[in-house]
Amino acid sequence: MKTEQNQMETVRHSISHLMSMAVQEIYPQVGLGVGPAIEDGFYQDYDLPEPITPDILPKLEKRMRELIKQNIEFKQHDVDFDEAYKFYKHDPYKTGFIDDLKAKGEKQVSFYKSDWFDNLCAGPHVKSTKEIDPKAFKLTRIAGAYWRGDEKNKMLTRIYGLAFATPEELTAHLTMLAEAEKRDHRKIGKELELFTFAEEIGAGLPIWLPKGTIIKDELEKLAKEQEELYGYQRVSTPLITKEDLFYTSGHLPHYADSMYAPMEIDGEKYYLKPMNCPFHHTIYKAKPHSYRELPIRYAEYGLCHRYEKSGELQGLMRVRSLMMNDAHIYVRPDQVKDELKKVLELHQYYYNLFGIDKVTYRLSLHDPKDLGGKYVDKPKEWQENEQILREVLQEMKMNFVEAENEASFYGPKIDINIYSIIGKEYTVGTCQLDFSQPQKFALTYINQDGVEVMPFCIHRAPLSTHERFVGFLIEHFAGNFPLWLSPVQVKILSVGENHIPYCEQLMKDFKAVNIRVELDDKNESVGHKIRQSSKEKIPYVLVIGDKEMNSQDLAVRVRGQEELLNIAQDKFNEHLQKLISTRSLEL
Ligand SMILES: [Zn+2]
Ligand SMILES: [Zn+2]
Repeated sequence: MKTEQNQMETVRHSISHLMSMAVQEIYPQVGLGVGPAIEDGFYQDYDLPEPITPDILPKLEKRMRELIKQNIEFKQHDVDFDEAYKFYKHDPYKTGFIDDLKAKGEKQVSFYKSDWFDNLCAGPHVKSTKEIDPKAFKLTRIAGAYWRGDEKNKMLTRIYGLAFATPEELTAHLTMLAEAEKRDHRKIGKELELFTFAEEIGAGLPIWLPKGTIIKDELEKLAKEQEELYGYQRVSTPLITKEDLFYTSGHLPHYADSMYAPMEIDGEKYYLKPMNCPFHHTIYKAKPHSYRELPIRYAEYGLCHRYEKSGELQGLMRVRSLMMNDAHIYVRPDQVKDELKKVLELHQYYYNLFGIDKVTYRLSLHDPKDLGGKYVDKPKEWQENEQILREVLQEMKMNFVEAENEASFYGPKIDINIYSIIGKEYTVGTCQLDFSQPQKFALTYINQDGVEVMPFCIHRAPLSTHERFVGFLIEHFAGNFPLWLSPVQVKILSVGENHIPYCEQLMKDFKAVNIRVELDDKNESVGHKIRQSSKEKIPYVLVIGDKEMNSQDLAVRVRGQEELLNIAQDKFNEHLQKLISTRSLEL
């Protein structure tokens, strides 16, 4: 699995060299910025003498296919610094990379030569273009990207491409992308009036509208119920805190760039919290604990603020204000495994509930070379704890990959990606085993021998943040939420004015049994009202005219179904209650 992945990355990056060849044939003096393989494809940044439009992409593709068919070999060779500088004297970007390598203390730099195209690059590459399927890649779009990601620098032209092992995989991916565009949470969120952003409030600060707030509240209700079953205790902590807390946690000074600037109150600096952990540690520390009390599980839907660059903000997926389905579990070493299993079991329960069929797990490990730098310098603990996570995943028979140098600074973690119905991937949660923060906060419990020892801390957030998870759900369901999550569950449409009092009575009946109901009694045609409610993706629509009033039976339009359902009011209520109480995906 892992090696296949690496091979695909090599193919993707090699195709970007071919793209550069095709570009350089048109613009011999082109400057070359970064050009990595990315998920599903690759990109390359260019400094071009003129702006280009998407018309150029098919031309480049055609030329790249010709190059692939020539079975061009990629040959690595090392070059002295002087020679490399001379080679790139026209290109300030490549010389910038050479400067970096020189500063790192390298003796020589690596080039890859494919036919006439010689390129500063560490590789790896395919041996020859024979390994590339000319029908399994596509150039997709052109974007602007600042040199070194810095707005003060020149904006370069970035060309993106997709590449897969087979043409079938490429087609499937393109179909998924087209479908994903239709399901874009920003578009549907606006149409369904779920959330918005306001210039006067600020970028990346989502405003939940009444209907979006219902979804958020339903998710919170679900989390509270489940956490209650698993023995969590709810806590609530402030949005701001004195800076000392973040020095203890290690967020300051290292994480300062991702935090909002401090405010001064009574001569002291206060920060908006970027995460809830230090607060929960403080609660744990407020009183002594015995080994018998553990695990202690503190849960909070905590509102956090993080500074994200404005260029990186994206709908609900990348925001500056986020509400996390957070909890911290303090456990004894002998409880770690069982507790982690419970956490993952809860993850699975949620994913089943939302009809998420594909979930991938990645065990993120430290890099022994970076102990004492990026990672806490405790080699033995790293090894032991990584093994615990590995065994948990193995014993739960979960498919997972391992990735070195992806852990958090305080411990290894399990990263979880979920896929929507159409196969789009979302990073939602991590489950982290922390053996460093408890020490920084001097957290202890009294063990069986009466000795003060340190607990482990598990960080988890299976429902991610409200922002990211609701964004995912919108795209997963294309706005067609299951009944229990639907902001409006039943909509009543009156045919004529004389039916309104009966409709109002019906509405009262539904409200009395906690059904979220709306009445459309506007003086408009029934056809118009039906079209409107179908745009709103309402699960059940009742049209009330003479026939319904006289028979007291309901004619129900079920979302996505042609046939009308004729059903007695009490039977319909029973049906609704059953679907809601089981949080069913059916209608
Ligand atoms: Zn390369
Ligand atoms: Zn945490």
